[in-house]
Amino acid sequence: MKLCFATNNTHKLQEIQALLGDHFSLVTLNEIGCSEEIPETRDTIEGNSMQKAEYVWNNFKINCFADDTGLEAEALNGEPGVLSARYAGPQRNSDDNMNLLIEKLSSHVNHKARFKTVITLVIHGIYNQFEGAVEGQIINEKRGLQGFGYDPIFLPDGHDHTFAEMTMLEKSKLSHRAIAFAKLVNFLNQI
Ligand code: IMP
Repeated sequence: MKLCFATNNTHKLQEIQALLGDHFSLVTLNEIGCSEEIPETRDTIEGNSMQKAEYVWNNFKINCFADDTGLEAEALNGEPGVLSARYAGPQRNSDDNMNLLIEKLSSHVNHKARFKTVITLVIHGIYNQFEGAVEGQIINEKRGLQGFGYDPIFLPDGHDHTFAEMTMLEKSKLSHRAIAFAKLVNFLNQI
């Protein structure tokens, strides 16, 4: 079955393709002729993930899945959430985003946060969502050079190292994204 992964990141696509049997052939947005930017205007991670999958299904009638990820700080009512990539502004700068989050949390005792990934799969118009989440704390100083985004200030519960102090392999064993994709792959491999 041809299945669009609503991304143009071929590296991400190949990683997931390797976990799926021959039964599925993953294609990118470019490969289905979708060159426009898909709107992401909802106010939740679930909503944006759904919006992307709906867009592909409604406009191209191709089975697909879309992912959306964000960091949610409890004391900030789930901020940065859907704003994670552009929290400190349209420049989408990770250092600026982390500095803003540290500053906003400085007046709060509660530094609990969770990374959440939601994948929406649509097959012949039937929708399913898969969620992966990792709970942790936002720390006040950046630690580590690996990873991306908010990794240097995210300390997952039960670990002494931030995501940015872990190797890619270590992070991939516990990350929100890995959990959500494992659920998706498990579902697809049973179809
Ligand atoms: P996306 O939905 O995967 O594009 O993620 C949106 C934003 O959330 C990214 O631009 C990052 O700022 C942040 N983010 C997503 N996943 C991670 C992660 O694993 N570590 C750190 N930041 C992340």
